[in-house]
Amino acid sequence: MTVENTLAGPGFDTLGLADPILRAIADAGYTTPTPIQAQAIPQVIAGGDLLAAAQTGTGKTAGFTLPILHHLSTKAVQARPGRPRCLILVPTRELAAQVEESVKTYGKYLPLTSMVMFGGVNINPQFKALKSRVDILVATPGRLLDHLGQKTIDLSGVEILVLDEADRMLDMGFIRDIKKVLAVLPKQRQNLLFSATFSDEIRALANGLLHNPKSVEVARRNTTVEVIEQSMHRVPQAHKRDLLAHLIKHHDWQQVLVFTRTKHGANKLAEKLIKDGITAAAIHGNKSQGARTKALASFKDGSVRVLVATDIAARGIDIDQLPQVVNFELPNVPEDYVHRIGRTGRAGTTGSALSLVDDEEMSYLRDIEKLIKRSIVRVEIEPGFVPPAKADLMSDERPPRPQGRGAPRQGAGQRSGQPARQGQPGGRNASGRAPQGKPAAGGARPAAAKAAPKPGAQPASHPRKPRPSAALFSAKPGTRGH
Ligand code: AMP
Repeated sequence: MTVENTLAGPGFDTLGLADPILRAIADAGYTTPTPIQAQAIPQVIAGGDLLAAAQTGTGKTAGFTLPILHHLSTKAVQARPGRPRCLILVPTRELAAQVEESVKTYGKYLPLTSMVMFGGVNINPQFKALKSRVDILVATPGRLLDHLGQKTIDLSGVEILVLDEADRMLDMGFIRDIKKVLAVLPKQRQNLLFSATFSDEIRALANGLLHNPKSVEVARRNTTVEVIEQSMHRVPQAHKRDLLAHLIKHHDWQQVLVFTRTKHGANKLAEKLIKDGITAAAIHGNKSQGARTKALASFKDGSVRVLVATDIAARGIDIDQLPQVVNFELPNVPEDYVHRIGRTGRAGTTGSALSLVDDEEMSYLRDIEKLIKRSIVRVEIEPGFVPPAKADLMSDERPPRPQGRGAPRQGAGQRSGQPARQGQPGGRNASGRAPQGKPAAGGARPAAAKAAPKPGAQPASHPRKPRPSAALFSAKPGTRGH
């Protein structure tokens, strides 16, 4: 997609990028650099380390990919087989695939080669690919370490290292893997670190890694969050599955991204929706890469209405004009809520984020509201919904217990480099029914708009109208904000 770039600043041709790169940018339909690109590209071309505060959706990938391509193409060094000149480390397979896709898109007029490397897929094609020249390697840490262990890759020629979504990599427990990789890189190199948040851990990593870094930061485009209608239903955990199926049918939602806390919960929910005649697929870390790619493709092309995802699996998903996000359970890390709802209302379109909140999740709600500095409107469930006669609660599907921020998050410590244990063809879920009704954007009316709180009904816990918060996405190094 192309992001709506309202800041009509100078064009790409003022940034010092080589001609073949400018041509590829024009082919992609971009006319103006986004703020992160305008700041980062000249800094990276100038050499030196960079610390960048930017989230998905800001155009950060091109922010580092374009100057890297420029640097590699203008320096007359030949990469050798299995010995990349640039290493881009990312937390998830999806992000790895997307970043390498960008490298290919922007580098299509250059004689540079790239490769993507992640776990959960057969390692043999990667061995084969490493027998050829690789200029740019995009990898998840786990699988990269496997290759290092087997000596099928040589990192002694790395001129540029990128840590993309560094906060996520640390959240996922990759710090030791990253340190092992750093230990085999040449001392003389350029380092670029991108992170959405800046915890003490990230600052410690940056201090050890970067030398006199220039720092750039961009606020997430405010429009993104301001157009997201955020609301919640108070509902017992045992009623959530039925309520969700009811809402999807009642509002005729055609494209809904649903977040669950557990992988098992994601599977069960997708199964339930399919049973209710709603096309759905689950995407999470236990699915094979093929299944995840297929589920995502079916969701994007509209043949699957509901994609049920865990936080980690959803990372890096970039979907145009996603109208509806549902938090089936609230995340226990408030920042995850912001990442989740950021999936909707992208590129200047309106979007709606609805949370289904059980009593036990109320403390998470408070943490989230504190972080986003606004209230999430509580909306009564429409009278048309009849709760299930028999409670639908299984022992492993209880709402998350309030444990505080230290509690391990879904997927924490899971190495994306490791093969998925039980890859299931996620697309199988998807194949059942053809898309129905109207196109996604028109079909999804925000729940809150339809279901106004009833006067005299149970008092809303947060009756105020949400106010946009300018501070919400300002990501300053040294703070934990977004
Ligand atoms: P990212 O933050 O890297 O995930 O990029 C978000 C989206 O913005 C991607 O779909 C890019 O294709 C798109 N994009 C990146 N740079 C630009 C630009 N300068 N103008 C318009 N769209 C862009």
